[in-house]
Amino acid sequence: MILRLKANSAENEIKELAERLHSLGFRTNISTGAHQTIIGLIGDTSKIDTDTLVALNPIVEDAKRISEPFKAANRKFHPESTVVDVNGVKIGEGWFHVISGPCSVESEEQIIKVAKSVKESGATLLRGGAFKPRTSPYSFQGLHGEGIRLLLEAKKETGLPIVTEIMDISTIDLFEDVDVIQVGARNMQNFEMLKELGKCKKPILLKRGLANTIEEFLMSAEYIMAGGNSNVILCERGVRTFETMTRNTLDLAAVALLKQLTHLPVVVDPSHAAGIRSLVAPLSRAALAVGADGLMIESHNDPAKALCDGAQSLDLDMFRDLMVDIRNRVAFEGKKM
Ligand code: PEP
Ligand code: MN
Repeated sequence: MILRLKANSAENEIKELAERLHSLGFRTNISTGAHQTIIGLIGDTSKIDTDTLVALNPIVEDAKRISEPFKAANRKFHPESTVVDVNGVKIGEGWFHVISGPCSVESEEQIIKVAKSVKESGATLLRGGAFKPRTSPYSFQGLHGEGIRLLLEAKKETGLPIVTEIMDISTIDLFEDVDVIQVGARNMQNFEMLKELGKCKKPILLKRGLANTIEEFLMSAEYIMAGGNSNVILCERGVRTFETMTRNTLDLAAVALLKQLTHLPVVVDPSHAAGIRSLVAPLSRAALAVGADGLMIESHNDPAKALCDGAQSLDLDMFRDLMVDIRNRVAFEGKKM
């Protein structure tokens, strides 16, 4: 249920109302906007009579039931878009940031070379997998702790904040200096891990599962937010369909719908969606056009020799050319990079 408070309600009145609601067994999510405060009521509201609630509480303008099971992530509770601050890089409404780097960190030379180049081209965050979720146990599994150490070296060289995937919560200590923790598609419903990530304050890049609905995606964000961490960035990376010519099917409608349903930033990963290098540029333009808040693009200094996902990785020149195009379009949309 959403309680819209009267404009200019006093802080102590809002506090008293929240306390009254807590004593009735509800949790509250209070969103203070420039002109209006909204209280999201979390709990079993089925027995509440909305008219009585409004009549008994003079600062409540109106009360509405909502049917979506996601509360903290719901835009109805929190009309203003959330901007996640990653060490000064602002991800969300009004901004368009591009995260780039290799699928996996392979060596110091590789990650430093890629980091310097993508930074020069305009990327504002560096990605690179240290723990890789591979379909085959015989494929390269990542450099693990050493991979994170190399990412931190690249961060030191370039100043770019780093994004890397966690696959097991027992490794969380290794992520202490990581700027954004990625939860990959295969772990989107690893609920115990999501709960633990809810206890930290670090930004989480949550990727949509291989075959998960938009509601399931938002409920996974809800797991993290329910624990107290509202720094969640959603990432649409394509879903499995009957199509076999592309690796996945990029669900651009989901991006547009997510922007309506939730206040969280939404970025698009065209690389894993397509699986094909030549589709990355057109899908990037499409993502910007439907309202995405940014992109995550795989790039590599030598894609033909990449240990993972070479076929979808842009080489550094291709990435630079794409960024020239994206920058013009972002400026046209009136967004900042
Ligand atoms: C990745 O970003 O490297 C990755 C493994 O992506 P996903 O979880 O979307 O497959
Ligand atoms: Mn990859």
